[in-house]
Amino acid sequence: MIEAFIAKARELYGEGFIPLHRPVFEGNEKRYLCECIDSNFVSSVGQRVVDFEMSISEFTGSKYAVAVASGTAGLQVALRVAGVSVGDEVLTQDLTFVATANAICHLGAAPVFLDVDIDSMGLSPSALLKFLEEHAAIESGQAYNKTTGARISACVPMHTFGNPGRIVEVIKICSEWGIPVIEDAAESLGSYIGDTHTGNFGCLGVFSFNGNKVITTGGGGVIVTNDESLAASARHLTTTAKVAHPYEFSHDEIAYNFRMPNLNAALGCAQMERLEEQLAIKQKVAEIWYEFFQVQGIEFMRPIPGCTTNNWLNAIRLNDRNERDIFIQATNEAGVMTRPVWQLMSSLPMLARFHCEPNPNAQALASTIVNISSSVPDGWLKHVESNI
Ligand SMILES: *Cc1c(COP(=O)(O)O)cnc(C)c1O
Repeated sequence: MIEAFIAKARELYGEGFIPLHRPVFEGNEKRYLCECIDSNFVSSVGQRVVDFEMSISEFTGSKYAVAVASGTAGLQVALRVAGVSVGDEVLTQDLTFVATANAICHLGAAPVFLDVDIDSMGLSPSALLKFLEEHAAIESGQAYNKTTGARISACVPMHTFGNPGRIVEVIKICSEWGIPVIEDAAESLGSYIGDTHTGNFGCLGVFSFNGNKVITTGGGGVIVTNDESLAASARHLTTTAKVAHPYEFSHDEIAYNFRMPNLNAALGCAQMERLEEQLAIKQKVAEIWYEFFQVQGIEFMRPIPGCTTNNWLNAIRLNDRNERDIFIQATNEAGVMTRPVWQLMSSLPMLARFHCEPNPNAQALASTIVNISSSVPDGWLKHVESNI
């Protein structure tokens, strides 16, 4: 099977080292970057930031978009405007990228790690409900933890590898407990539940444009919301809480310099122009892998019914840790990059002191999932003449 996999990867991606996911710059990237430099507006004020926010708004169907310096920064600000503060507890999943937990901890809140569903790899509604029924109570509309006495001020589900989680169920449970939901949609630009784009279910959602994501701004992120006042707060907090004035420096909160620079947004504008085309190609690649692994009798992770994935990172599930390790070693030695999923948050040294609920599904996935080649292959995008 391993030899056949390597051969298939070579057929798709050719010779040389094959990364998991590489960015593609085959549109107006260089042109927009040069225009940006020529304009002198390279920093956190500029038309490209506004244009980029508009294209994200339009693409996701979110009313408001606030471009920020990274996905992690976006999560931190989204949590803060949703009301998370020092000493609170924030519910999230044990199987996620460390940025989710970092953002919670940077606000002085304590993450509570819950299990995921095997099929969606996202937060398990039944684990969430079980935790709340066992540990939480509501007082004047506010959920708190009966054991620790802390407020439970938010829940952050994450859409793993672009596959949407059971967000509708999560929101239903959280709304009964008065807990705001912030979607860590970092990996899921181009993913839908029904016809609705991820990021629109919670009170706020956050996408990342790091170099390995579906599209990149070099580094960057965006906060989306359909709530005007949350959007205004997020914008204010990411721009040093400066009160608008032609020349006076007046600030009214301890805030952040988290605005996305115009240079990064210029790159983002060019990337957005080819997003649909890239998503269609990634869908084809995922179908090729799905068929390949079906013949091999190996599970290829598909979206749960009713959902559409952006196919950010393709993932397969092997039988056990040993089989996984052999696969990962052999493929990497052959120059075809593959990777295990993140170590569980509760197993990381700086997060081990936080509460973690029983997590059999997260553990099962953590020892068996492997991410495989997911890039847009060379020459599959329609060639356009660059203006540079
Ligand atoms: C990429 C990512 C983030 C944010 O990452 P940045 O590198 O800060 O943009 C957050 N959560 C998840 C799950 C991610 O994959």
